[in-house]
Amino acid sequence: LATLAAGSMLALSACAGGAGGGGGEGGGDGGLIGVAMPTKSSERWIQDGDAVKEQLEEQGFTVDLQYAEDDIPTQVSQIENMITKGAEALIIASIDGTTLTSVLQDAADADIPVIAYDRLIRDTENVDYYASFDNFVVGQQQAWSVLNGLGLAELDGTPIEGAPAGPFNIELFAGSLDDNNAFFFFDGAMDVLQPLIDDGTLVVKSGQTDIEQVATLRWDGETAQSRMEDILTADYSDGSTVNAVLSPYDGISRGIISALTDAGYSVGEGWPVISGQDAELDSVKAINSGEQYATIFKDTRELAVVAVDMATALLKGEEPEVNNTEDYDNGVKTVPSFLLDPVIVVKDNITEVLVDSGYWTEEEING
Ligand code: BGC
Repeated sequence: LATLAAGSMLALSACAGGAGGGGGEGGGDGGLIGVAMPTKSSERWIQDGDAVKEQLEEQGFTVDLQYAEDDIPTQVSQIENMITKGAEALIIASIDGTTLTSVLQDAADADIPVIAYDRLIRDTENVDYYASFDNFVVGQQQAWSVLNGLGLAELDGTPIEGAPAGPFNIELFAGSLDDNNAFFFFDGAMDVLQPLIDDGTLVVKSGQTDIEQVATLRWDGETAQSRMEDILTADYSDGSTVNAVLSPYDGISRGIISALTDAGYSVGEGWPVISGQDAELDSVKAINSGEQYATIFKDTRELAVVAVDMATALLKGEEPEVNNTEDYDNGVKTVPSFLLDPVIVVKDNITEVLVDSGYWTEEEING
């Protein structure tokens, strides 16, 4: 199993049950694995947690899965508790990637391998591997989706000939500055957008283009909503309209949509192009109804396979498969990583990408 390429990952969980023997709720004899997730307030982490737990249990492990409701001390004590209970490996999606240094020293002292899940854990040598998506590409895709909605580029970023000259008004949002991913997403997006800002095709009327100015603490939708409201009041009361909003996450997009609706925008002519991330169900519905233009799908089931593969390889004394040993410097070391490919979802490919893969059913989306 360990030699299976991660590309065939979905098949892995199917055969893993047979290999693991045990399976079922806590019934494994393979030992305890601690899984720390940030919050249940966003759908994706629930799916991540469920997928990791299920796959580990299929392989005969007992799983301690904990959510910390975005509270840092809670996450630290949950991990401390996993160590005390004798966890043999830890899979951690951090809330603040810089706050686990001390608890991970305890893990290292107890010889417990640590896998950073989706978000890089920073400022410690005691993180062994990183399972994630290509986060820079996620940011590029978010920008490409915005340009696509404006008629400027194909979804892969190729410029469309004879595209409108603009200028288009765009406002920018980024994620939480304590999450390493926020920088990768924003850098990827600005790699695409900055040249168009420089040549005047895109105009940021608020003037807010630095990540510190556009960040959203804890990726909170209401925080984004009030920032959008402030921008609309300060910069668009002169009759001008926002044509596009770069949003890094579906929950933030929903906050932006509320602000726009409250300010009198309505879907149809003049409604801005809005990006997103995670293919959360409400946002997939919003794409269908035209409120949101696109999201980025990151298959949590595949990410779970990568993380579970890494953990099981480490416990067998084998080297986990990686495909990136350059990009994820955590301030102390470059963490060997396996990065999956994200996929842009727009109205036209919802069925192909999300339904055919079994991520959401037609009924969930349309019902
Ligand atoms: C994840 C995104 C998610 C965001 C907010 C990031 O670290 O990579 O998928 O949208 O956190 O939860």
